[in-house]
Amino acid sequence: MFDVDKIRGDFPLLSQSPQGRRLVYLDNAATTQKPAVVIEAIGRFYETCNANVHRGAYALAEAATEAYERARRRVARFLHAPGPEGIIFTRNATEAINLVAYSWGLSQLKPGDEILLTEMEHHSNLVPWHLVAARTGARIRAVPLREDYELDLEAFYRLLSARTRLVALVHVSNVLGTINPVREFVQAAHDLGALVLVDGAQAVPHMPVDVQELGVDFYAFSGHKICGPTGIGVLYGRPELLEAMPPFLGGGDMINEVWVDRSTYAELPHKFEAGTPHLAGAVGLEVALDYVEGIGLDRIGAWSRRLADRAARELSSIPGVRVYRPREGSGVVSFTLAGVHAHDLATVLDAEGVAIRAGHHCAQPLMRRLGLQATARASFYLYNTEEEVEALLEAVRKAARLFAPLVERAIRSPVQG
Ligand code: PMP
Repeated sequence: MFDVDKIRGDFPLLSQSPQGRRLVYLDNAATTQKPAVVIEAIGRFYETCNANVHRGAYALAEAATEAYERARRRVARFLHAPGPEGIIFTRNATEAINLVAYSWGLSQLKPGDEILLTEMEHHSNLVPWHLVAARTGARIRAVPLREDYELDLEAFYRLLSARTRLVALVHVSNVLGTINPVREFVQAAHDLGALVLVDGAQAVPHMPVDVQELGVDFYAFSGHKICGPTGIGVLYGRPELLEAMPPFLGGGDMINEVWVDRSTYAELPHKFEAGTPHLAGAVGLEVALDYVEGIGLDRIGAWSRRLADRAARELSSIPGVRVYRPREGSGVVSFTLAGVHAHDLATVLDAEGVAIRAGHHCAQPLMRRLGLQATARASFYLYNTEEEVEALLEAVRKAARLFAPLVERAIRSPVQG
């Protein structure tokens, strides 16, 4: 049995009434709450283990270094990576993708080369490639979305060619909840000699990920979306690729030898970690991974999906509500209420203590493809309950009553807002 009451007890913020109000927290795709074990581990690091890593010749610095490197080994096990040398700590998924764009992209791409993205990417897997394409002359192409909110695989096979150097795609969409068939993308891309980068920000919190089984070349995620702290993210890269790539940032800790006019670089993974890293963040992430794996990522994913499926089904039956979700999605439900801006909808929900996200969700090309400016988005995680789904539904019904004249006018007109 999935004991959600017990799980809720692990999260201090959920057992309080922040700002003295009810909180139904349904913005987990933006960031997740933190269990006490993670909060305590961060405090304990500063209380018992704080020193800079890889530098001091004293016991405390060795303990800090060991804690940091143990966290790296934990992440390697979590992703089923071949070893810790392919695990680079970054600030977040965004920085992990930028690392690949600037290091691999700037050094490898030439005019005429193509980077194949998709129409459902988060801006963090679009803008870095825009910046690099502008400097290298590479061309960006995108796999289109189908009417059923899945990627158009036939179009993917048409767009993929010997010119494609990199396929960069999201594992799970933060707007639609679509789960992309990464293995199929990898096989086809590798057959033509292209590399594959996967943005796993919304995948790792909801499913076990095995980077070797998927065959990906690069995989990025953020700690804060999987019960870990903010400010710590991960890039997995195939070690032989990382080995051949130039550093992204320069500074302390990433060097071998430095002269005034040149330097040589450290071995992996340190070559890509300039400056003092987020030590407490890495330690907190390790404990977060222990926590979610202790419950089971399969079970967490199934629970979030079950809540999202129910929310999607019942939201669809409210007149004027439209849900944007594939047949089998993750724990995310995007929806609109006809005639009502998503921000106004979210404001009404907030007054009921229901916290959802409204906007373009950093996916403007996708919004454009859907013919929308914004959606409301409820995203579920392991500590959400059936009662919270009901609170969401009740609040949306209330908004529909409040905005009834607008909703009715929009339903009668052919254009959905
Ligand atoms: N990719 C996806 C699919 C996301 O949902 C997000 C966060 N909304 C990111 C990337 C970026 O994550 P971060 O802001 O932690 O770098």
